[in-house]
Amino acid sequence: MNNKKIEGLYIKKLKLLEKYNIEYYIKSKPSVSDNEYDVVKNDILSLEKKYDFLKSKNSPSQIVGHKPSKNFKKVQHKVPMLSLSNAFSEDDLNNFENRILNFLSEQKNFNIFYSCEPKIDGISASLFYKKGVFTKGLSRGDGKEGEDITSNLLTIKDIPKKIHANDFPDEIDIRGEVFIQNSDFEDIKDKFANPRNAASGSLRQKNPKDTEKIPLKFIAYTFGYQKNLKVQNQFDYLKKLSEWGFKTNPLNKLINGVNNLIQNYNEVEKQRINLDFDIDGIVYKVNDFALQKRLGNVANAPRWAIAHKFSSNKAVSKILDIDIQIGRTGALTPVAKVKPINIGGVTVSNATLHNEDEIIRKDIRIGDTVTIERAGDVIPHILSVDLKKRDKKSAKFIFPNKCPSCGSKTIKDFNSITKKEDAVRRCSSEGYDCEKISIEKLKHFVSKDAFNIDGLGKKIVENFWNLKIINFPHDIFRLDFEKIEKLDGWGDLSVKNLNYSINQKKKISLERFIYALGVRHIGLENAKLLAKYFISFNKFKNFPKQNKYEELLNIDGIGETQVNSIKNFFSNDTNLKVLNELDKELTVDNAILNKKNGKFKEKTFLVTGKLYGISRAEVKSLIEENSGTTVSSVSNKLNYLIIGEKPTRRKVESARELKVKIIDQDEFLMMLKKTS
Ligand code: NAD
Repeated sequence: MNNKKIEGLYIKKLKLLEKYNIEYYIKSKPSVSDNEYDVVKNDILSLEKKYDFLKSKNSPSQIVGHKPSKNFKKVQHKVPMLSLSNAFSEDDLNNFENRILNFLSEQKNFNIFYSCEPKIDGISASLFYKKGVFTKGLSRGDGKEGEDITSNLLTIKDIPKKIHANDFPDEIDIRGEVFIQNSDFEDIKDKFANPRNAASGSLRQKNPKDTEKIPLKFIAYTFGYQKNLKVQNQFDYLKKLSEWGFKTNPLNKLINGVNNLIQNYNEVEKQRINLDFDIDGIVYKVNDFALQKRLGNVANAPRWAIAHKFSSNKAVSKILDIDIQIGRTGALTPVAKVKPINIGGVTVSNATLHNEDEIIRKDIRIGDTVTIERAGDVIPHILSVDLKKRDKKSAKFIFPNKCPSCGSKTIKDFNSITKKEDAVRRCSSEGYDCEKISIEKLKHFVSKDAFNIDGLGKKIVENFWNLKIINFPHDIFRLDFEKIEKLDGWGDLSVKNLNYSINQKKKISLERFIYALGVRHIGLENAKLLAKYFISFNKFKNFPKQNKYEELLNIDGIGETQVNSIKNFFSNDTNLKVLNELDKELTVDNAILNKKNGKFKEKTFLVTGKLYGISRAEVKSLIEENSGTTVSSVSNKLNYLIIGEKPTRRKVESARELKVKIIDQDEFLMMLKKTS
């Protein structure tokens, strides 16, 4: 990459960070996890380290938070409110201490004591007291200027409005964290991603009456500007705060030596689940104010403090309950309901337990203290159980042998190839007899690769099911729109739109129709094979009458497992009834046999990005019907890359390098229309 390109990349990343900062600090609605944010931040810092010429006043090494929102009056901080540097490992802590010793020109045996304070994940505020009276309260803003949120802070009960102590300084900015307790967050968790955003969103409401409705708390830990503060170190200051009537953190400790810091860190991390507030690490502050003064600050953080962050992908929590979820194919999936815990900025309250075998193998029980892992987009799962913490009275978890939804027997299939029982236990009922399976089947029916009905998402299907508006797939095409219009959240326009999009989908290809039925083991590819065999809906519907199931085995790609599954499907009367009713509502197009010498013969295609009004599955079918093939990666064997919105950059770049023709959705559809 040349310098221009590197600079371009750097600016792009800075802009992305700015967008995240606005979402997080101003709107209190982050669109990415802290982890994802920190990846971009570290990319920028690494680029700056590698290339001297990259500099910006907006670099995360220079800025604090974000400039104040226009909703509040801006007020200058007399002493800036800074951010904190981060440490993630023992090495980082040793480096931190060595940097301090070097700066002070001291030897290894110089004893530094640190005030160790759990880092509450809330938002900081600065409270100005004059002659003991709370007169003005500011948010951190960009560290230099904060937002005047006095009226909102006045609603917080933890904040003393008047202090009578004789040794309280004449003037002082008391600084600390505004946060919300986990138990209070429970009541408003639908509105915010995590307690930090809830606290930030509530504290920075335009109307203090709205702030008052949320039980915000305040813990004090530092000061800014002061006149006549007669304390020499941080730990004594914390004691004073509590004497003056402020709440301080009961887990604050005074410790020396990196080993002891780590021991305390491990102990606090274990206690995390018992706390009623969110902490994301421990802040270490050089205790002695005289040393703090000598050490001073870097651009946006003090040299004398560091935040030792907890792992951003693992945390310890407690299993409150084990829930059994039932999928479309009847699979029973156990899910651990855990005490909510912040892992890398995301509040985790569910962790998958995979299946019955996994529970037995790890002997996971309700009440257990467990380590949960959450990495990337993967569903959080249980890594291990802390057996030392197990209650002696705890009992093994017995997996239900009856479906929790419909009471049918649960079974484990025998796999004739591996000669083993499946790990997954299933509800043995077919079709629409099990409530939970029905809901999942309906969600599948309207999903993207199936009927793809705009405005009829999973939540709406669930809601309509609960209201008994939709019980079976054919009900979707017979909706009582007058009734729906009267429901909460619906109106004339939304009902009209829904009606329109349902009508649009009354015509469907046979392969998508078969796929939409959600027969177990019949995914999109198998549905295509079956459609090419049956050709018409009529033949498909009347197939059970002919009882020629073994014929299906002649289809290349269809095996015994699929045939048995189709047999099961057709042996259920409700399924047959659903087919008959759908027949009355829909036009199912006959399958088009793939042309042998179509216009895309020997041509390969790949789709990247979001398409409009057409699904990828449909594009794939159109390509195949015209003798083309679709591939899964860019190579010199690829002829066309079809790009939609937000395509994968890497794919586009490789295609350009390999001189692969890049076309958009319209160009592709034009190619189809052209007579060859
Ligand atoms: P920070 O949260 O890492 O540390 C500084 C803050 O710690 C202080 O301002 C204070 O509010 C708090 N704190 C709690 N207890 C304290 C104590 N005892 N002493 C001193 N301070 C204490 O720094 P930051 O600049 O506020 O935030 C940066 C981090 O926020 C990022 O690294 C990222 O993880 C997260 N963030 C996430 C997004 C997102 O979109 N997800 C956006 C911006 C920032």
